[in-house]
Amino acid sequence: MIRQFELVENVKAYDPSADEDALNRAYVFAMKAHGSQKRASGDPYFSHPLEVAGILTDYRLDASSIITALLHDTVEDTLATSEEIREQFGEEIMLLVDGVTKLTQIELQSDQSDQAENFRKLVLAMSEDIRVLLVKLADRLHNMRTLNFISKRDKRRRIALETMEIYAPLAERIGMQEFKNELEDLSFAELNPEARESITSRLQFLRDEGKDNVETIVNELKETLAEQTIKAEVYGREKSPYSIWRKSQKKNISFEQVSDIIAFRIVVDTVEDCYRALGVIHGAYLMVPGRFKDYISTPKPNGYQSLHTGVIGPERQRIEIQIRAKRMHEVAEMGVAAHWQYKQNTDPKSGRQYRWMRELLDIMEHADNPEDFLEHTKLEMFPDQVFSFTPKGEVIALPAGATAIDFAYAVHSEIGDTCVGTKINGRPMPLRTVLENGDQVEVITSPAQTPSPTWENFATTGKARACIRRFIRLKQREEYITLGKSILERGFQKEGYEFAEKAFDDVLTIFNAESTEDLYSEVGAGHINGRDVIEAVFPGTKEERHSSKVVQLFRRRSKKKKADDQSTSVPIKGLIPGMALHFAGCCHALPGDRIVGIVTKGRGLTIHTIDCVTLEEFADTPERWIDVSWEEDADNERRAGRIEIVVTNEPGSLGELSMVIAKNDGNINNLKITNRSQDFFDISVDIEVHDLKHLRNIIAALRASPVINTVERVRG
Ligand code: MN
Repeated sequence: MIRQFELVENVKAYDPSADEDALNRAYVFAMKAHGSQKRASGDPYFSHPLEVAGILTDYRLDASSIITALLHDTVEDTLATSEEIREQFGEEIMLLVDGVTKLTQIELQSDQSDQAENFRKLVLAMSEDIRVLLVKLADRLHNMRTLNFISKRDKRRRIALETMEIYAPLAERIGMQEFKNELEDLSFAELNPEARESITSRLQFLRDEGKDNVETIVNELKETLAEQTIKAEVYGREKSPYSIWRKSQKKNISFEQVSDIIAFRIVVDTVEDCYRALGVIHGAYLMVPGRFKDYISTPKPNGYQSLHTGVIGPERQRIEIQIRAKRMHEVAEMGVAAHWQYKQNTDPKSGRQYRWMRELLDIMEHADNPEDFLEHTKLEMFPDQVFSFTPKGEVIALPAGATAIDFAYAVHSEIGDTCVGTKINGRPMPLRTVLENGDQVEVITSPAQTPSPTWENFATTGKARACIRRFIRLKQREEYITLGKSILERGFQKEGYEFAEKAFDDVLTIFNAESTEDLYSEVGAGHINGRDVIEAVFPGTKEERHSSKVVQLFRRRSKKKKADDQSTSVPIKGLIPGMALHFAGCCHALPGDRIVGIVTKGRGLTIHTIDCVTLEEFADTPERWIDVSWEEDADNERRAGRIEIVVTNEPGSLGELSMVIAKNDGNINNLKITNRSQDFFDISVDIEVHDLKHLRNIIAALRASPVINTVERVRG
């Protein structure tokens, strides 16, 4: 265990302006706070923050980062409070420690690896200061180094998986290659010990056999470069077992066949020397085609710069070589930390915060794609998104400004519809509360609850708004139904009849109503005149002089129907014998629909539904219209009806949709997604059905499904 004075000396060695007193106080504060707590290894707990601080001094991080490392577990695991830390160490340290504490509180559940990207974004978003992330990564690195002391295999696996999926990629994004390699390899040892074991023993075998002629190759490369007066350091480093394994997985070969298990590195002084060295190497050895990459002129998004090439090198062995300048080497190994320390040494007097800001600007200037690099390094990278959690730890990503009601609907539309309140981070909060990154949101539901129109005022996501509106529409419909029914009841009274719902059965089609309720609703909304309905039910009433065109049309059609009563091979009445007939593709008429035939020269009769918009084209040629209707009880072949469905974009939606249709004996013969958005899919479906009633049953069943937002029949 590193001692107090050693730690302080290490920091002072690279940052003479470091606050020695604060470092000493942090050391003592953490040691006292952790008291007699023990690690799983049996070591005093305090050894852990001390090691974490030690890791960060290797990266020459500023005194604030080192102090934060010492204190990083005090608020989470001891009686110490952020308030005390503020009092003793100031605002900056308090914020840094709080940041690390928050990161410690989020965990990836092992069954949520599909959410890894969201978690990575969340961690980045929560690391308001990049030093928070650096301390967290060092914390994780030390925990991984001591993982074997944890006795529960499940827990070890969960931590290793989280490291592999969240922290190693994060280390890579901010360019900390060494961190990344070690984190990956330690996770690999836990997650796939057999594979790692066979790779390490193979490497050992090669070493024993003297087949790793690394030294010979290094020396020859050195000589070759020296002959051309290039000053260079040359290393040969074994790649990590994990990167060898991944390469063999990626190329689908056994790892014995992975040729480049040693990475050779040539480090020179200047950029110019990099290209000179490359020229010398390519001149002396045969180049392997397709291996050359110039990351100097085009750095990787995380700032990495080097020349990569592959040659048939000394010993006639195929090798990979990376050529870089010293400065690039530092960045490659230490990433963001290298940028940081570089600036620090050139201008030690500038204020810390200010320097840090400038540092970020510096990184941005040097990255080839500033947005890209910023996205990977600093907080304001997801200004348009907020990440919050369910109590089970599932991440819910919402647009910035989203409220608790949006969260509830994002979890499930049913949760949204029945929510009565929320607890955010354990505290009851109003549904209108705007969510912040890392909020844990618990939605309280009650089966008796229904959506309130006022929710629309603060719902921001499309899904929440659509669900709320849909409910309001339904509710409005209920009111119209009640109103329409009472209007018709009065009509019955006036005519001196007792009110009977089934009296409407015969007139529904006249008014294009799908059900009695539909009729009530239309009357209630004022789309259909109540008197017209009464007249249709009781033809020839005293108010006949007011009768509408609709009713007259009905009467005429009724008469005509009787006159044309004749059987044909087609289940349609009203046909001129021998006339060809086909169905229009626009409206998909079904038995039960009111239909009309349009005479088309050379093609016979085209059948449309009476409300098909195409019919407008024939408005001026009434002579072409032929009244037709379906044969009653005819044994019809199935015909396809087309419906337009809006479903929630979530796993299983399409499955549910096709299951509902199949359960109701419908046969999908065509399905097309006509529009995709984040929340919903619009889908056009052709379903083969017996008749209109059958299609209506399917529509009703679809509407009852929670994942289906709206279902409408397509007409023309
Ligand atoms: Mn820790």
